Amino acid sequence: MQDEHDAVEPLATDLTGIDTRTAGLAQVTAGYLLRAPRPTLFECGPAKSIDTVIAALHALGFDPDDLAYLVVSHIHLDHAGGAGDLARAFPNATVVVSDLGAAHLVDPTKLNASARRVYGSLHDRVYGDCTPVQQEQVRAVTDGEVLDLGGGRRLELLHTPGHAKHHISAFDPDSGWLFAGDSVGVKLPGMRVIRPATPPPDFDLALARRTLDRYQSLEPSTLWLAHYGPLREPMAALDEALERLAAWAETAERAWAEHDELDHVAETLAQRFADDIAPDVDDPEATERLELLNGVESNAAGLLRYFRLREEGRVADDSS
Ligand SMILES: [Zn+2]
Repeated sequence: MQDEHDAVEPLATDLTGIDTRTAGLAQVTAGYLLRAPRPTLFECGPAKSIDTVIAALHALGFDPDDLAYLVVSHIHLDHAGGAGDLARAFPNATVVVSDLGAAHLVDPTKLNASARRVYGSLHDRVYGDCTPVQQEQVRAVTDGEVLDLGGGRRLELLHTPGHAKHHISAFDPDSGWLFAGDSVGVKLPGMRVIRPATPPPDFDLALARRTLDRYQSLEPSTLWLAHYGPLREPMAALDEALERLAAWAETAERAWAEHDELDHVAETLAQRFADDIAPDVDDPEATERLELLNGVESNAAGLLRYFRLREEGRVADDSS
Protein backbone atom coordinates (compact mmCIF):
# COMPACT_ATOMS: atom_id res chain seq x y z
CA MET A 1 0.00 0.00 0.00
CA GLN A 2 1.40 3.31 -0.95
CA ASP A 3 1.43 6.05 1.65
CA GLU A 4 -0.97 8.78 0.52
CA HIS A 5 1.17 11.40 2.30
CA ASP A 6 3.88 10.82 -0.29
CA ALA A 7 1.50 12.15 -2.88
CA VAL A 8 1.19 15.57 -1.22
CA GLU A 9 3.69 18.37 -1.75
CA PRO A 10 3.37 21.93 -0.39
CA LEU A 11 4.13 24.30 -3.29
CA ALA A 12 3.19 27.64 -1.71
CA THR A 13 1.24 28.69 1.39
CA ASP A 14 -2.03 28.32 -0.48
CA LEU A 15 -1.07 25.76 -3.10
CA THR A 16 -0.55 22.03 -2.60
CA GLY A 17 0.54 19.57 -5.26
CA ILE A 18 -1.10 16.16 -5.33
CA ASP A 19 0.72 13.51 -7.33
CA THR A 20 -2.03 11.39 -8.89
CA ARG A 21 0.37 8.44 -9.28
CA THR A 22 -0.93 7.76 -12.75
CA ALA A 23 -0.01 4.20 -13.80
CA GLY A 24 1.59 3.75 -10.39
CA LEU A 25 4.41 6.07 -11.47
CA ALA A 26 5.56 9.14 -9.57
CA GLN A 27 5.35 12.56 -11.23
CA VAL A 28 3.33 11.78 -14.32
CA THR A 29 0.14 13.80 -13.77
CA ALA A 30 -0.11 16.56 -11.17
CA GLY A 31 -3.19 17.81 -9.38
CA TYR A 32 -3.02 21.31 -7.90
CA LEU A 33 -5.07 22.22 -4.85
CA LEU A 34 -5.71 25.94 -4.33
CA ARG A 35 -6.40 26.50 -0.63
CA ALA A 36 -8.96 29.32 -0.90
CA PRO A 37 -12.24 29.68 1.09
CA ARG A 38 -13.70 27.60 -1.75
CA PRO A 39 -10.95 25.03 -2.21
CA THR A 40 -10.33 24.13 -5.80
CA LEU A 41 -8.53 21.18 -7.30
CA PHE A 42 -7.11 21.60 -10.80
CA GLU A 43 -6.94 18.15 -12.53
CA CYS A 44 -7.69 14.83 -10.83
CA GLY A 45 -5.94 12.30 -13.09
CA PRO A 46 -7.37 9.01 -14.32
CA ALA A 47 -10.03 6.86 -12.64
CA LYS A 48 -7.59 4.05 -12.03
CA SER A 49 -5.53 6.11 -9.56
CA ILE A 50 -8.27 8.39 -8.19
CA ASP A 51 -8.18 6.68 -4.76
CA THR A 52 -4.71 8.15 -4.27
CA VAL A 53 -6.11 11.65 -4.87
CA ILE A 54 -9.13 11.10 -2.62
CA ALA A 55 -6.88 9.69 0.13
CA ALA A 56 -4.52 12.65 -0.23
CA LEU A 57 -7.44 15.09 0.20
CA HIS A 58 -8.61 13.19 3.28
CA ALA A 59 -5.06 13.26 4.67
CA LEU A 60 -5.06 17.04 4.16
CA GLY A 61 -8.16 17.25 6.37
CA PHE A 62 -10.82 17.46 3.67
CA ASP A 63 -14.22 16.06 4.63
CA PRO A 64 -16.63 14.98 1.89
CA ASP A 65 -18.34 18.40 1.95
CA ASP A 66 -15.17 20.46 1.80
CA LEU A 67 -14.12 20.56 -1.85
CA ALA A 68 -15.81 23.35 -3.83
CA TYR A 69 -14.47 22.87 -7.36
CA LEU A 70 -12.68 20.38 -9.53
CA VAL A 71 -11.44 22.10 -12.69
CA VAL A 72 -10.33 19.78 -15.49
CA SER A 73 -8.26 21.26 -18.30
CA HIS A 74 -9.74 18.81 -20.78
CA ILE A 75 -11.48 15.46 -20.87
CA HIS A 76 -8.59 13.22 -21.91
CA LEU A 77 -8.64 10.38 -19.38
CA ASP A 78 -5.23 11.16 -17.86
CA HIS A 79 -6.71 14.49 -16.70
CA ALA A 80 -10.42 13.98 -16.11
CA GLY A 81 -10.94 10.22 -16.00
CA GLY A 82 -11.38 10.26 -12.23
CA ALA A 83 -13.90 13.12 -12.25
CA GLY A 84 -16.96 10.89 -11.71
CA ASP A 85 -15.43 9.07 -8.75
CA LEU A 86 -14.09 12.28 -7.23
CA ALA A 87 -17.47 14.00 -7.60
CA ARG A 88 -19.11 11.14 -5.72
CA ALA A 89 -16.50 11.30 -2.94
CA PHE A 90 -16.99 15.10 -2.69
CA PRO A 91 -20.67 15.64 -3.45
CA ASN A 92 -20.52 19.43 -2.89
CA ALA A 93 -17.88 19.85 -5.55
CA THR A 94 -18.73 21.36 -8.90
CA VAL A 95 -16.82 19.90 -11.84
CA VAL A 96 -15.73 22.75 -14.11
CA VAL A 97 -15.09 21.79 -17.72
CA SER A 98 -15.23 23.38 -21.17
CA ASP A 99 -18.74 23.56 -22.60
CA LEU A 100 -17.29 21.66 -25.59
CA GLY A 101 -16.40 18.67 -23.40
CA ALA A 102 -19.00 18.72 -20.61
CA ALA A 103 -21.46 16.27 -22.20
CA HIS A 104 -18.76 13.58 -22.27
CA LEU A 105 -18.32 13.72 -18.49
CA VAL A 106 -22.07 13.35 -17.94
CA ASP A 107 -22.17 10.41 -20.34
CA PRO A 108 -18.63 9.06 -20.76
CA THR A 109 -19.66 6.11 -22.97
CA LYS A 110 -17.98 7.54 -26.09
CA LEU A 111 -14.99 8.81 -24.15
CA ASN A 112 -14.29 5.36 -22.71
CA ALA A 113 -14.90 3.62 -26.01
CA SER A 114 -12.51 5.88 -27.89
CA ALA A 115 -9.84 5.54 -25.18
CA ARG A 116 -10.20 1.76 -25.38
CA ARG A 117 -9.73 1.98 -29.17
CA VAL A 118 -6.64 4.15 -28.86
CA TYR A 119 -4.95 2.50 -25.87
CA GLY A 120 -6.08 -1.12 -26.12
CA SER A 121 -5.11 -3.09 -23.02
CA LEU A 122 -3.28 -0.07 -21.64
CA HIS A 123 -6.68 1.50 -21.02
CA ASP A 124 -7.61 -0.85 -18.17
CA ARG A 125 -4.09 -1.01 -16.82
CA VAL A 126 -3.41 2.73 -16.71
CA TYR A 127 -6.57 4.79 -17.06
CA GLY A 128 -9.71 2.81 -16.27
CA ASP A 129 -13.21 3.87 -17.25
CA CYS A 130 -14.42 7.36 -16.42
CA THR A 131 -17.67 7.08 -14.45
CA PRO A 132 -20.46 9.61 -15.12
CA VAL A 133 -20.60 12.95 -13.32
CA GLN A 134 -24.16 13.93 -12.43
CA GLN A 135 -25.40 16.80 -14.56
CA GLU A 136 -26.14 18.89 -11.42
CA GLN A 137 -22.47 18.72 -10.45
CA VAL A 138 -21.17 19.95 -13.82
CA ARG A 139 -20.49 23.57 -14.75
CA ALA A 140 -19.81 23.95 -18.46
CA VAL A 141 -17.75 27.09 -19.06
CA THR A 142 -16.68 29.30 -21.93
CA ASP A 143 -13.75 31.66 -22.36
CA GLY A 144 -13.49 34.47 -19.81
CA GLU A 145 -15.71 33.01 -17.11
CA VAL A 146 -14.52 33.59 -13.56
CA LEU A 147 -14.61 31.18 -10.61
CA ASP A 148 -15.18 32.97 -7.33
CA LEU A 149 -13.02 31.14 -4.79
CA GLY A 150 -14.13 33.39 -1.91
CA GLY A 151 -12.12 35.95 0.09
CA GLY A 152 -11.56 38.00 -3.05
CA ARG A 153 -9.73 35.17 -4.81
CA ARG A 154 -10.73 34.55 -8.42
CA LEU A 155 -9.69 32.16 -11.12
CA GLU A 156 -10.07 33.29 -14.71
CA LEU A 157 -10.95 30.45 -17.06
CA LEU A 158 -9.53 30.65 -20.56
CA HIS A 159 -10.51 28.62 -23.59
CA THR A 160 -7.09 27.48 -24.80
CA PRO A 161 -7.53 25.10 -27.75
CA GLY A 162 -4.72 23.44 -29.71
CA HIS A 163 -3.86 20.26 -27.80
CA ALA A 164 -7.60 19.60 -27.82
CA LYS A 165 -10.41 21.79 -29.02
CA HIS A 166 -12.08 21.75 -25.61
CA HIS A 167 -8.97 22.64 -23.58
CA ILE A 168 -9.24 25.26 -20.85
CA SER A 169 -6.64 26.82 -18.56
CA ALA A 170 -7.00 28.71 -15.29
CA PHE A 171 -5.23 31.98 -14.51
CA ASP A 172 -4.95 33.37 -11.00
CA PRO A 173 -4.39 37.10 -11.44
CA ASP A 174 -3.32 37.57 -7.77
CA SER A 175 -0.35 35.23 -7.95
CA GLY A 176 0.14 35.21 -11.71
CA TRP A 177 -0.11 31.42 -11.71
CA LEU A 178 -1.28 29.83 -14.90
CA PHE A 179 -2.54 26.26 -14.67
CA ALA A 180 -1.85 25.19 -18.20
CA GLY A 181 -2.94 21.54 -18.51
CA ASP A 182 -1.32 20.15 -21.67
CA SER A 183 -1.37 23.37 -23.69
CA VAL A 184 2.31 24.23 -23.20
CA GLY A 185 3.52 20.66 -23.65
CA VAL A 186 5.09 18.23 -21.20
CA LYS A 187 8.30 18.45 -19.25
CA LEU A 188 8.68 15.42 -17.06
CA PRO A 189 11.49 14.80 -14.57
CA GLY A 190 14.65 14.05 -16.50
CA MET A 191 13.64 15.94 -19.64
CA ARG A 192 15.96 18.59 -21.06
CA VAL A 193 13.31 20.43 -23.01
CA ILE A 194 9.59 20.87 -23.34
CA ARG A 195 7.96 18.37 -25.67
CA PRO A 196 4.78 19.53 -27.41
CA ALA A 197 1.72 17.32 -26.90
CA THR A 198 0.07 17.02 -30.32
CA PRO A 199 -2.18 13.95 -30.13
CA PRO A 200 -5.20 12.97 -32.19
CA PRO A 201 -8.09 13.35 -32.46
CA ASP A 202 -8.13 17.14 -32.63
CA PHE A 203 -4.68 18.68 -32.25
CA ASP A 204 -4.61 21.96 -34.19
CA LEU A 205 -1.24 23.62 -34.81
CA ALA A 206 -2.59 27.10 -35.54
CA LEU A 207 -4.73 27.13 -32.41
CA ALA A 208 -1.89 25.73 -30.29
CA ARG A 209 0.33 28.63 -31.40
CA ARG A 210 -2.37 31.17 -30.75
CA THR A 211 -2.84 29.80 -27.22
CA LEU A 212 0.90 30.13 -26.47
CA ASP A 213 0.89 33.70 -27.84
CA ARG A 214 -2.02 34.50 -25.58
CA TYR A 215 -0.13 33.17 -22.55
CA GLN A 216 2.77 35.48 -23.35
CA SER A 217 0.44 38.47 -23.24
CA LEU A 218 -0.74 37.42 -19.75
CA GLU A 219 2.84 37.54 -18.44
CA PRO A 220 2.27 34.76 -15.91
CA SER A 221 4.62 34.35 -12.92
CA THR A 222 4.63 30.53 -13.07
CA LEU A 223 3.31 27.92 -15.49
CA TRP A 224 1.98 24.83 -13.76
CA LEU A 225 2.08 21.86 -16.11
CA ALA A 226 -0.09 18.79 -15.64
CA HIS A 227 2.93 16.72 -16.72
CA TYR A 228 4.73 17.78 -14.52
CA GLY A 229 5.16 20.66 -12.12
CA PRO A 230 6.15 24.33 -12.31
CA LEU A 231 8.07 26.23 -14.95
CA ARG A 232 9.40 29.18 -12.98
CA GLU A 233 10.70 31.19 -15.91
CA PRO A 234 7.48 31.27 -17.84
CA MET A 235 8.36 33.74 -20.59
CA ALA A 236 11.48 31.79 -21.56
CA ALA A 237 9.47 28.57 -21.27
CA LEU A 238 6.79 29.92 -23.61
CA ASP A 239 9.47 30.88 -26.16
CA GLU A 240 10.84 27.36 -25.85
CA ALA A 241 7.38 25.81 -26.21
CA LEU A 242 6.78 27.80 -29.43
CA GLU A 243 10.21 26.91 -30.78
CA ARG A 244 9.77 23.19 -29.97
CA LEU A 245 6.31 23.14 -31.49
CA ALA A 246 7.71 24.65 -34.69
CA ALA A 247 10.56 22.09 -34.73
CA TRP A 248 8.19 19.13 -34.29
CA ALA A 249 5.78 20.47 -36.91
CA GLU A 250 8.55 21.17 -39.46
CA THR A 251 10.14 17.77 -38.93
CA ALA A 252 6.82 15.98 -39.22
CA GLU A 253 5.80 17.98 -42.28
CA ARG A 254 9.05 17.24 -44.09
CA ALA A 255 8.73 13.52 -43.30
CA TRP A 256 5.11 13.57 -44.45
CA ALA A 257 6.20 15.12 -47.77
CA GLU A 258 8.66 12.23 -48.23
CA HIS A 259 6.15 9.49 -47.36
CA ASP A 260 2.55 10.03 -46.38
CA GLU A 261 2.79 7.28 -43.81
CA LEU A 262 2.47 7.34 -40.03
CA ASP A 263 5.39 5.00 -39.33
CA HIS A 264 7.78 7.11 -41.38
CA VAL A 265 6.72 10.34 -39.65
CA ALA A 266 6.96 8.72 -36.21
CA GLU A 267 10.40 7.25 -36.89
CA THR A 268 11.70 10.58 -38.19
CA LEU A 269 10.42 12.39 -35.10
CA ALA A 270 11.82 9.72 -32.77
CA GLN A 271 15.26 10.10 -34.34
CA ARG A 272 15.29 13.88 -34.33
CA PHE A 273 14.04 14.22 -30.74
CA ALA A 274 15.73 11.21 -29.17
CA ASP A 275 17.60 13.44 -26.74
CA ASP A 276 14.54 15.15 -25.22
CA ILE A 277 15.37 13.03 -22.22
CA ALA A 278 18.83 14.04 -21.08
CA PRO A 279 21.20 11.19 -21.99
CA ASP A 280 22.85 11.24 -18.56
CA VAL A 281 19.60 10.90 -16.61
CA ASP A 282 19.81 8.01 -14.22
CA ASP A 283 16.09 7.36 -13.88
CA PRO A 284 14.71 4.10 -15.27
CA GLU A 285 11.17 5.52 -15.18
CA ALA A 286 12.00 8.59 -17.30
CA THR A 287 11.43 6.94 -20.68
CA GLU A 288 8.49 4.90 -19.43
CA ARG A 289 6.70 8.05 -18.22
CA LEU A 290 7.26 9.92 -21.44
CA GLU A 291 6.26 7.09 -23.77
CA LEU A 292 3.15 6.44 -21.71
CA LEU A 293 2.00 10.00 -21.79
CA ASN A 294 3.36 11.63 -24.82
CA GLY A 295 4.63 8.96 -27.15
CA VAL A 296 6.17 9.94 -30.47
CA GLU A 297 3.59 7.79 -32.23
CA SER A 298 0.73 9.80 -30.75
CA ASN A 299 2.36 13.14 -31.57
CA ALA A 300 3.03 11.94 -35.12
CA ALA A 301 -0.58 10.84 -35.59
CA GLY A 302 -1.93 14.18 -34.36
CA LEU A 303 0.39 16.22 -36.58
CA LEU A 304 -0.26 14.05 -39.63
CA ARG A 305 -3.99 14.34 -39.18
CA TYR A 306 -3.65 18.12 -38.93
CA PHE A 307 -1.53 18.38 -42.10
CA ARG A 308 -3.98 16.24 -44.07
CA LEU A 309 -6.95 18.31 -42.95
CA ARG A 310 -5.12 21.52 -43.70
CA GLU A 311 -4.35 20.28 -47.21
CA GLU A 312 -8.07 19.68 -47.68
CA GLY A 313 -8.78 23.19 -46.39
CA ARG A 314 -10.66 21.81 -43.40
CA VAL A 315 -8.61 23.58 -40.72
CA ALA A 316 -7.13 27.06 -40.66
CA ASP A 317 -3.61 27.57 -41.97
CA ASP A 318 -1.06 28.22 -39.25
CA SER A 319 1.11 30.50 -41.36
CA SER A 320 -1.21 33.54 -41.12
ZN1 LIG B 1 -4.49 15.57 -23.26
